[in-house]
Amino acid sequence: MDSQKPMFDVENFDDELVQKLVFDALVWSSLHGLVVGDKTYQKSGKVPGVGMMHAPIALLPTPFPEIYWKQACDVAPIFNELVDRVSLDGKFIQDSLSRTKKVDIFTSRLLDIHSKMLESNKKEDIRLGLHRSDYMLDEETKSLLQIEMNTISSSFSGLGRLVSELHQSLLRSYGDHLGLDPERVPRNASTYQFADAMAKAWLEYNNPRAVVMVVVQAKERNMYDQHWQSSVLREKYPLLILFLRFPWKTLAEVENEGRVHEDGTLIVGGQAVAVVYFRSGYTPTDYPSESEWNARLLIEQSSAVKCPSIAYHLTGTKKIQQELAKPGVLERFLDNKEDIAKLRKGFAGLWSLDDPEIVKKAIEKPELFVMKPQREGGGNNIYGDDVRENLLRLQREGEEENAAYILMQRIFPKVSNMFLVREGVYRKDQAISELGVYGAYLRNKERVIVNEQSGYLMRTKVSSSDEGGVAAGFAVLDSIYLN
Ligand code: ADP
Ligand code: MG
Ligand code: MG
Repeated sequence: MDSQKPMFDVENFDDELVQKLVFDALVWSSLHGLVVGDKTYQKSGKVPGVGMMHAPIALLPTPFPEIYWKQACDVAPIFNELVDRVSLDGKFIQDSLSRTKKVDIFTSRLLDIHSKMLESNKKEDIRLGLHRSDYMLDEETKSLLQIEMNTISSSFSGLGRLVSELHQSLLRSYGDHLGLDPERVPRNASTYQFADAMAKAWLEYNNPRAVVMVVVQAKERNMYDQHWQSSVLREKYPLLILFLRFPWKTLAEVENEGRVHEDGTLIVGGQAVAVVYFRSGYTPTDYPSESEWNARLLIEQSSAVKCPSIAYHLTGTKKIQQELAKPGVLERFLDNKEDIAKLRKGFAGLWSLDDPEIVKKAIEKPELFVMKPQREGGGNNIYGDDVRENLLRLQREGEEENAAYILMQRIFPKVSNMFLVREGVYRKDQAISELGVYGAYLRNKERVIVNEQSGYLMRTKVSSSDEGGVAAGFAVLDSIYLN
């Protein structure tokens, strides 16, 4: 099929059809748990079942060329392997971030925990990675370029699957009107595949009485995404996990109730912990006091399987992404030349601010760059004229602070008219999309137990928003329609 031809000619949709589709989408979402906390409800981030709202969604899946979809799936296991290899090279991580450490207190605290583990020669035999590598399809060069690799708290593995099912269901119900094949929305088993990897990690830990602990933020409007993840694990492994419970703990609670037994067992609230799944701990506000840092260190010192370990977490920083994109660096971690070529094909331009040529270019044409600090969770990057201003400021104020940032080539995906639905209301907007492909990885010493592509998540945002963010109110959850 001609990928240039608009798949859904949204201009020709009549209002009545759109309203019916929206109505059905809202009912489906409510009945199937495609929901988030409603921000107008004070308790909606704390008490489940109170103040729920359908998740922000694209009404229809976004057309996506099959060859790029295959490309993104194909590299998922290679990225998993790369993260694992890099995580074992403590010196590479420390050296790459040594200058960042001086100017970025958050990264510095993470590095301190990492150094302590290196000093005590702590080894992680069982390593669990639940990753999401994000891409945009650059319209001009027609290349699929990586935005970033998430190694901590990769979100929407719970809700992403449901969006694909919603879209399949709408395409089935409205087959006559839309003429689209629901089978072209790829099956999305993200929740099941992540659950499977967690269950296998729990088995490897080999203490039938130990629990899977989810580390959460005190308030979380995206809690249903996390509940889906726990709930699927529980339902899929009812016999295996007779004892398996899912305490949800904040880092502050872990500090209060936690200790590490002499043999390395992490005990929280009297229960041994086999697997720690972080859905918190990735941003400075997750550490309001020393308690949270103590908790993170305590967890790291224990024998529990951490998803992620401090080394996996740091491997997901933008600085490491930029270091890995330098010539010859991938070769230090991977042997297979074909694999290396596949990864490199998806690398956008990435530079440190030490490169005066690039800084000059970025000051001249800031719209072609994104400036990124070492942060996660959206809303932290610098765009447009702010790139110029910040680079000029750094030049005036001395260059130490340069090391807090990287520069990245700005990617320009195709802009299309799409129906975005939030808070019960739909709008037709000029929008762009970002494809996330999940990857699950589990190994115990030399034995690789899981290494697979594990579902996907499309996020679509209005094109006028630089950053988007589903929680921030610009982006919506979406799926893909292969063409
Ligand atoms: P975070 O870890 O906070 O999610 P990202 O690197 O993913 O940081 O950036 C956040 C968002 O900013 C992305 O989802 C994307 O919308 C936008 N973005 C990031 N890098 C680029 C880029 N190189 N070109 C265009 N948009 C980008
Ligand atoms: Mg991220
Ligand atoms: Mg991101």
